[in-house]
Amino acid sequence: MAKVGLVSLGCPKNTVDSEVMIGLLARAGHEMTARANEAEIIIVNTCSFIGPAKQESIDTILEMAEHKKRSAARKLIVTGCLVERYRDQILREMPEVDYVLGTNELDRVVGACDPGNHGRESGRSAAPYLYHEFTPRVLSTPAHSAYIKIAEGCDHTCSFCVIPQMRGQFRSRRFESVVREAENLVRNGARELTLVGQDNTSYGEDLGLRDGLALLLREIAKIPELVWLRFLYCYPNRVTDTLIAAVAETPKVAKYFDIPLQHASGAVLKAMRRGSNGGQFLKLIEKIRAAIPEVTLRTSLIVGFPGETERDFEDLVQFVAEAQFDHLGVFRYSNEESSASFSLPNPLPAAVAYQRQRRILALQRKVSRSKLKKWVGRRVPVLNEGVSPETSWLFTARLESQAPGVDGQVLVNDFEGPEPRAGEYRWATVTASGDYDLVARLAPEYFARKKDARAAPVGLLQIGPAGQTYALPHL
Ligand code: SF4
Repeated sequence: MAKVGLVSLGCPKNTVDSEVMIGLLARAGHEMTARANEAEIIIVNTCSFIGPAKQESIDTILEMAEHKKRSAARKLIVTGCLVERYRDQILREMPEVDYVLGTNELDRVVGACDPGNHGRESGRSAAPYLYHEFTPRVLSTPAHSAYIKIAEGCDHTCSFCVIPQMRGQFRSRRFESVVREAENLVRNGARELTLVGQDNTSYGEDLGLRDGLALLLREIAKIPELVWLRFLYCYPNRVTDTLIAAVAETPKVAKYFDIPLQHASGAVLKAMRRGSNGGQFLKLIEKIRAAIPEVTLRTSLIVGFPGETERDFEDLVQFVAEAQFDHLGVFRYSNEESSASFSLPNPLPAAVAYQRQRRILALQRKVSRSKLKKWVGRRVPVLNEGVSPETSWLFTARLESQAPGVDGQVLVNDFEGPEPRAGEYRWATVTASGDYDLVARLAPEYFARKKDARAAPVGLLQIGPAGQTYALPHL
């Protein structure tokens, strides 16, 4: 058996895939290591939905390949979305790669790690893969906070997006399978669960369920020791009254909607093959806020789509100012060769897209700064995340309104009572606010008791100058 190191790139859905591969390898007797120079086998689980993600994947493969020259590594395996898009090119142009596995071939990772296996790829005819509650999975996130993938693939046809080509048609996990996995994770110490998939709002449709996500939220929220339940990635026209009611009426479900809207101009949204417009989005936002006054809203946008006029962009600016999102991500359009928008006329100069992105970010910074001021002086429950990775005299924590990995955080610079421990829910008083983060003093009282996790999370190989991988959110 070998020592295996894995780098996981991209979004939380890819993180779950990595955790499944680690689980399969651990069951087969392999040992995981977080030190690249100790790993005999290195796996890079890649992302490739836009240009920068592809570049990061390629850079990481090359960085890890260096370990074959100067460390213990004797095999380099590349998995995930980059393989789905560029399998032949990787095999042809990267001789340092020993094996490739696509997104439907996760369960072949054990065979790929077999010392006797000297092939360079697995078969391509893998059936659509989706793990289940009995699939071994080892968490790489802190044990108190876990993702659950509830579905895979996407049936939407957004013109800029190549994800359906890599992840296939939409398919849901069985309802009971997701609930059992949630129970298992909580039994092992998880107190916050985040449901992910390409399009969570379609969950269960292929199983004949109506309002499957709302049903799932209500069912998982019954698990006694669970404290916060979240879901990410809503397709806007599938945010139903039933879903809003489930969030409003279920105390453990975070009052939080992440709805990637992409744009507000009707013309651009039509060219994106998504439809709708800013006016309709504002009505949806109004409806959600009327039902859940304390709700947190997150979105992501694309600027610089082919043909985006000055007027389209001004519509978007106006929309962002009116919508007052709590959290917002904005990407520059990435012209992907297999996307439907690849050959659209009127591409925008990169400098224009860059300026537009900066303008939206500057506007959102003001919105965020002003919205965060309302927290100052409030006593709120927070989930402690341990010592800050940036400085040892600060602890970090999150509010219910801050999802893991994508939003701002609470910096704890003072505490009463026991030293903060990762995974505990305590009360805190917010003492200051910044552009995206809050500062708080921790009180001694617990909001929910911590239960020690049974299994420590496995360490992943880290990359990048800050020693961190970059999590690109879903489009
Ligand atoms: S952007 Fe999201 S909803 Fe649209 S096709 Fe891609 S994965 Fe599906």
